[in-house]
Amino acid sequence: MAVDYHLEGQVAVVTGSSSGIGQALAEALAGQGVNVVLNGFGDAAQIEADRARIEAQTGVKAMYHGADMTRPEQIRDLVAFAHGAFGRLDILVNNAGVQHVAPVEDFPDERWDQIIAINLTSAFHATKAAIPIMKAAGRGRIVNVASAHGLVASPFKSAYVAAKHGIVGFTKSCALELARSGVTVNAICPGYVKTPLVDAQIADQAKARGIAVERVVEDVILAAQPNKTFVAYEHLAGMLLYLVSDLGGSTTGAALTADGGWTAA
Ligand code: NAD
Repeated sequence: MAVDYHLEGQVAVVTGSSSGIGQALAEALAGQGVNVVLNGFGDAAQIEADRARIEAQTGVKAMYHGADMTRPEQIRDLVAFAHGAFGRLDILVNNAGVQHVAPVEDFPDERWDQIIAINLTSAFHATKAAIPIMKAAGRGRIVNVASAHGLVASPFKSAYVAAKHGIVGFTKSCALELARSGVTVNAICPGYVKTPLVDAQIADQAKARGIAVERVVEDVILAAQPNKTFVAYEHLAGMLLYLVSDLGGSTTGAALTADGGWTAA
Protein backbone atom coordinates (compact mmCIF):
# COMPACT_ATOMS: atom_id res chain seq x y z
CA MET A 1 0.00 0.00 0.00
CA ALA A 2 1.47 3.34 -1.03
CA VAL A 3 0.78 6.01 1.57
CA ASP A 4 0.46 9.56 0.29
CA TYR A 5 1.26 11.96 3.09
CA HIS A 6 -0.01 14.97 1.09
CA LEU A 7 2.93 17.16 2.00
CA GLU A 8 3.80 18.53 -1.46
CA GLY A 9 4.73 22.21 -1.46
CA GLN A 10 5.12 22.46 2.30
CA VAL A 11 8.22 23.98 3.87
CA ALA A 12 10.40 22.51 6.60
CA VAL A 13 13.35 23.66 8.65
CA VAL A 14 15.51 20.80 9.94
CA THR A 15 18.23 21.88 12.35
CA GLY A 16 21.47 19.90 12.33
CA SER A 17 20.73 18.36 8.93
CA SER A 18 24.26 18.34 7.53
CA SER A 19 24.78 14.87 9.00
CA GLY A 20 23.20 11.75 10.45
CA ILE A 21 19.56 11.69 11.55
CA GLY A 22 18.81 15.30 10.57
CA GLN A 23 20.04 14.74 7.05
CA ALA A 24 18.01 11.53 6.75
CA LEU A 25 14.88 13.30 8.02
CA ALA A 26 15.37 16.26 5.66
CA GLU A 27 15.76 13.82 2.76
CA ALA A 28 12.61 11.95 3.82
CA LEU A 29 10.64 15.22 3.80
CA ALA A 30 12.12 16.26 0.46
CA GLY A 31 11.16 12.85 -0.91
CA GLN A 32 7.53 13.77 -0.12
CA GLY A 33 7.76 17.07 -1.98
CA VAL A 34 8.57 19.27 1.03
CA ASN A 35 10.93 22.20 0.38
CA VAL A 36 13.65 22.08 3.01
CA VAL A 37 15.97 24.50 4.74
CA LEU A 38 19.06 22.61 5.81
CA ASN A 39 21.31 23.64 8.69
CA GLY A 40 24.39 22.35 10.46
CA PHE A 41 28.14 22.48 10.49
CA GLY A 42 30.60 20.73 8.23
CA ASP A 43 32.66 21.07 5.10
CA ALA A 44 31.08 23.79 2.92
CA ALA A 45 31.63 21.87 -0.33
CA GLN A 46 30.07 18.73 1.14
CA ILE A 47 27.06 20.67 2.46
CA GLU A 48 26.54 22.25 -0.97
CA ALA A 49 26.90 18.85 -2.68
CA ASP A 50 24.27 17.36 -0.33
CA ARG A 51 21.93 20.32 -0.88
CA ALA A 52 22.25 20.03 -4.67
CA ARG A 53 21.80 16.24 -4.55
CA ILE A 54 18.55 16.57 -2.57
CA GLU A 55 17.21 19.06 -5.11
CA ALA A 56 18.25 16.87 -8.06
CA GLN A 57 16.82 13.69 -6.56
CA THR A 58 13.50 15.08 -5.35
CA GLY A 59 12.72 18.19 -7.39
CA VAL A 60 12.08 20.30 -4.28
CA LYS A 61 13.88 23.51 -3.40
CA ALA A 62 16.57 22.89 -0.81
CA MET A 63 18.28 25.84 0.84
CA TYR A 64 20.99 26.05 3.48
CA HIS A 65 21.36 28.35 6.46
CA GLY A 66 24.42 28.04 8.69
CA ALA A 67 22.88 29.19 12.00
CA ASP A 68 24.86 28.19 15.07
CA MET A 69 22.40 26.55 17.47
CA THR A 70 24.16 28.15 20.43
CA ARG A 71 23.25 31.64 19.12
CA PRO A 72 19.64 32.75 19.66
CA GLU A 73 19.75 35.56 17.07
CA GLN A 74 21.06 33.16 14.42
CA ILE A 75 18.31 30.64 15.26
CA ARG A 76 15.68 33.36 14.85
CA ASP A 77 17.30 34.30 11.57
CA LEU A 78 17.10 30.68 10.35
CA VAL A 79 13.33 30.61 10.92
CA ALA A 80 12.90 34.06 9.34
CA PHE A 81 15.05 32.97 6.38
CA ALA A 82 12.80 29.97 5.68
CA HIS A 83 9.63 32.01 6.05
CA GLY A 84 11.02 34.83 3.92
CA ALA A 85 12.22 32.52 1.14
CA PHE A 86 9.04 30.46 0.82
CA GLY A 87 6.33 32.60 2.43
CA ARG A 88 5.33 29.74 4.72
CA LEU A 89 6.73 27.41 7.35
CA ASP A 90 4.84 24.19 7.95
CA ILE A 91 7.31 21.93 9.71
CA LEU A 92 10.08 22.56 12.23
CA VAL A 93 12.34 19.67 13.19
CA ASN A 94 14.56 20.51 16.16
CA ASN A 95 17.27 17.93 15.68
CA ALA A 96 20.73 19.47 16.21
CA GLY A 97 22.51 17.76 19.05
CA VAL A 98 25.90 16.98 20.51
CA GLN A 99 27.15 14.61 23.16
CA HIS A 100 29.91 14.45 25.74
CA VAL A 101 30.61 11.42 27.88
CA ALA A 102 32.32 11.87 31.25
CA PRO A 103 31.67 11.28 34.96
CA VAL A 104 29.71 14.21 36.37
CA GLU A 105 32.49 15.29 38.73
CA ASP A 106 34.87 15.62 35.75
CA PHE A 107 32.30 17.05 33.35
CA PRO A 108 33.75 20.23 31.79
CA ASP A 109 31.55 23.28 32.55
CA GLU A 110 31.76 24.52 28.97
CA ARG A 111 30.61 21.15 27.59
CA TRP A 112 27.60 21.18 29.95
CA ASP A 113 26.65 24.66 28.75
CA GLN A 114 27.13 23.73 25.09
CA ILE A 115 25.00 20.58 25.34
CA ILE A 116 22.16 22.38 27.13
CA ALA A 117 22.34 25.21 24.56
CA ILE A 118 22.32 23.01 21.45
CA ASN A 119 20.19 20.05 22.60
CA LEU A 120 17.59 22.01 24.58
CA THR A 121 17.66 25.80 24.40
CA SER A 122 17.97 25.96 20.60
CA ALA A 123 14.58 24.20 20.34
CA PHE A 124 13.07 26.89 22.55
CA HIS A 125 14.37 29.70 20.34
CA ALA A 126 13.37 27.99 17.07
CA THR A 127 9.92 27.04 18.40
CA LYS A 128 9.34 30.53 19.78
CA ALA A 129 10.11 32.01 16.36
CA ALA A 130 8.03 29.46 14.44
CA ILE A 131 4.86 29.54 16.56
CA PRO A 132 3.50 32.92 15.36
CA ILE A 133 3.94 31.83 11.73
CA MET A 134 2.23 28.47 12.30
CA LYS A 135 -0.55 29.95 14.44
CA ALA A 136 -1.34 32.50 11.74
CA ALA A 137 -1.56 29.65 9.20
CA GLY A 138 -3.82 27.65 11.52
CA ARG A 139 -1.60 24.62 11.12
CA GLY A 140 1.93 23.53 11.93
CA ARG A 141 4.08 20.63 12.97
CA ILE A 142 6.96 20.78 15.43
CA VAL A 143 8.98 17.62 15.98
CA ASN A 144 11.75 17.52 18.54
CA VAL A 145 14.39 14.83 18.17
CA ALA A 146 14.84 13.75 21.78
CA SER A 147 16.20 10.29 22.60
CA ALA A 148 15.57 7.22 24.72
CA HIS A 149 17.71 9.34 27.04
CA GLY A 150 14.74 11.72 27.22
CA LEU A 151 12.92 8.98 29.14
CA VAL A 152 15.61 7.00 30.95
CA ALA A 153 19.22 7.68 31.95
CA SER A 154 22.67 6.19 31.47
CA PRO A 155 25.79 6.98 33.47
CA PHE A 156 28.38 9.48 32.20
CA LYS A 157 25.86 11.42 30.09
CA SER A 158 24.47 13.85 32.67
CA ALA A 159 24.20 16.89 30.40
CA TYR A 160 22.74 14.94 27.49
CA VAL A 161 20.19 13.14 29.69
CA ALA A 162 19.24 16.41 31.38
CA ALA A 163 18.78 18.16 28.02
CA LYS A 164 16.80 15.28 26.50
CA HIS A 165 14.51 14.95 29.54
CA GLY A 166 14.14 18.72 29.29
CA ILE A 167 13.08 18.64 25.67
CA VAL A 168 10.45 16.00 26.38
CA GLY A 169 9.00 18.31 29.04
CA PHE A 170 9.25 21.31 26.73
CA THR A 171 7.40 19.31 24.05
CA LYS A 172 4.51 18.55 26.42
CA SER A 173 4.21 22.13 27.61
CA CYS A 174 4.16 23.55 24.07
CA ALA A 175 1.64 20.91 22.97
CA LEU A 176 -0.77 22.00 25.71
CA GLU A 177 -0.33 25.68 24.91
CA LEU A 178 -0.97 25.05 21.20
CA ALA A 179 -3.63 22.35 21.53
CA ARG A 180 -6.37 24.43 19.90
CA SER A 181 -4.23 26.16 17.31
CA GLY A 182 -3.76 23.40 14.70
CA VAL A 183 -0.10 23.15 15.66
CA THR A 184 1.11 19.84 17.08
CA VAL A 185 4.33 19.39 19.03
CA ASN A 186 5.86 15.97 19.54
CA ALA A 187 9.15 14.33 20.41
CA ILE A 188 10.70 11.28 18.84
CA CYS A 189 12.92 9.18 21.06
CA PRO A 190 15.36 7.01 19.14
CA GLY A 191 17.56 4.36 20.64
CA TYR A 192 20.98 3.98 19.08
CA VAL A 193 21.31 4.95 15.45
CA LYS A 194 24.73 4.44 13.88
CA THR A 195 25.60 8.04 13.05
CA PRO A 196 28.86 10.00 13.40
CA LEU A 197 27.66 11.03 16.89
CA VAL A 198 27.44 7.40 18.00
CA ASP A 199 30.76 6.51 16.37
CA ALA A 200 32.37 9.23 18.50
CA GLN A 201 30.60 7.92 21.61
CA ILE A 202 31.92 4.42 21.08
CA ALA A 203 35.44 5.80 21.31
CA ASP A 204 34.59 8.02 24.33
CA GLN A 205 32.86 5.20 26.20
CA ALA A 206 35.84 2.92 25.64
CA LYS A 207 38.01 5.58 27.28
CA ALA A 208 35.62 6.36 30.15
CA ARG A 209 35.09 2.69 30.99
CA GLY A 210 38.59 1.51 30.13
CA ILE A 211 37.38 -1.29 27.84
CA ALA A 212 37.98 -2.22 24.20
CA VAL A 213 36.00 -0.56 21.40
CA GLU A 214 34.47 -3.89 20.24
CA ARG A 215 33.13 -4.57 23.73
CA VAL A 216 31.53 -1.11 23.91
CA VAL A 217 29.25 -1.84 20.93
CA GLU A 218 28.07 -5.18 22.25
CA ASP A 219 28.13 -4.75 26.02
CA VAL A 220 27.48 -1.00 26.43
CA ILE A 221 25.80 0.58 23.40
CA LEU A 222 23.43 -2.19 22.37
CA ALA A 223 23.25 -3.62 25.89
CA ALA A 224 20.38 -1.19 26.47
CA GLN A 225 18.60 -2.09 23.26
CA PRO A 226 16.79 -5.44 23.66
CA ASN A 227 16.52 -6.08 19.90
CA LYS A 228 20.33 -5.71 19.63
CA THR A 229 19.96 -3.78 16.39
CA PHE A 230 20.79 -0.16 15.59
CA VAL A 231 17.70 1.92 14.72
CA ALA A 232 17.43 2.51 10.95
CA TYR A 233 16.96 6.00 9.52
CA GLU A 234 13.79 4.72 7.81
CA HIS A 235 12.19 3.95 11.18
CA LEU A 236 12.63 7.57 12.23
CA ALA A 237 11.55 8.88 8.83
CA GLY A 238 8.33 6.84 9.13
CA MET A 239 7.58 8.39 12.51
CA LEU A 240 8.32 11.88 11.26
CA LEU A 241 6.10 11.55 8.17
CA TYR A 242 3.27 10.23 10.31
CA LEU A 243 3.59 13.12 12.75
CA VAL A 244 3.83 15.90 10.17
CA SER A 245 1.03 14.64 7.93
CA ASP A 246 -2.70 14.79 8.66
CA LEU A 247 -2.40 11.19 9.91
CA GLY A 248 -0.75 12.63 13.03
CA GLY A 249 -3.47 15.20 13.65
CA SER A 250 -4.49 13.79 17.04
CA THR A 251 -0.97 13.17 18.26
CA THR A 252 0.45 16.04 20.29
CA GLY A 253 2.60 16.19 23.39
CA ALA A 254 3.79 12.63 22.73
CA ALA A 255 7.24 11.17 23.14
CA LEU A 256 7.26 8.36 20.57
CA THR A 257 9.95 5.74 20.90
CA ALA A 258 11.94 3.91 18.23
CA ASP A 259 14.32 2.14 20.56
CA GLY A 260 14.07 -1.61 20.03
CA GLY A 261 12.34 -2.01 23.40
CA TRP A 262 14.92 -0.08 25.46
CA THR A 263 12.47 2.01 27.49
CA ALA A 264 10.06 -0.91 28.01
CA ALA A 265 12.53 -2.45 30.42
P1 NAD B 1 25.37 13.94 14.06
O1 NAD B 1 26.59 14.33 14.80
O2 NAD B 1 25.48 13.02 12.89
O3 NAD B 1 24.56 15.23 13.61
C1 NAD B 1 24.41 16.34 14.46
C2 NAD B 1 24.04 17.54 13.63
O4 NAD B 1 23.94 18.68 14.47
C3 NAD B 1 25.10 17.88 12.56
O5 NAD B 1 24.47 18.33 11.39
C4 NAD B 1 25.87 19.02 13.22
O6 NAD B 1 26.56 19.87 12.29
C5 NAD B 1 24.74 19.72 13.92
N1 NAD B 1 25.21 20.63 14.95
C6 NAD B 1 26.01 20.38 16.01
N2 NAD B 1 26.25 21.51 16.68
C7 NAD B 1 25.59 22.50 16.04
C8 NAD B 1 25.45 23.89 16.24
N3 NAD B 1 26.04 24.52 17.28
N4 NAD B 1 24.71 24.60 15.38
C9 NAD B 1 24.10 23.98 14.32
N5 NAD B 1 24.20 22.68 14.07
C10 NAD B 1 24.94 21.95 14.92
O7 NAD B 1 24.40 13.31 15.18
P2 NAD B 1 23.05 12.46 15.08
O8 NAD B 1 23.31 11.15 15.73
O9 NAD B 1 22.47 12.49 13.73
O10 NAD B 1 22.14 13.28 16.09
C11 NAD B 1 21.03 14.07 15.68
C12 NAD B 1 20.06 14.18 16.83
O11 NAD B 1 19.57 12.87 17.16
C13 NAD B 1 20.67 14.73 18.11
O12 NAD B 1 19.74 15.58 18.77
C14 NAD B 1 20.90 13.48 18.94
O13 NAD B 1 20.94 13.75 20.30
C15 NAD B 1 19.71 12.66 18.54
N6 NAD B 1 19.83 11.23 18.80
C16 NAD B 1 20.81 10.50 18.21
C17 NAD B 1 20.87 9.14 18.47
C18 NAD B 1 21.92 8.26 17.84
O14 NAD B 1 22.00 7.09 18.22
N7 NAD B 1 22.68 8.73 16.88
C19 NAD B 1 19.95 8.54 19.33
C20 NAD B 1 18.96 9.33 19.92
C21 NAD B 1 18.91 10.67 19.63
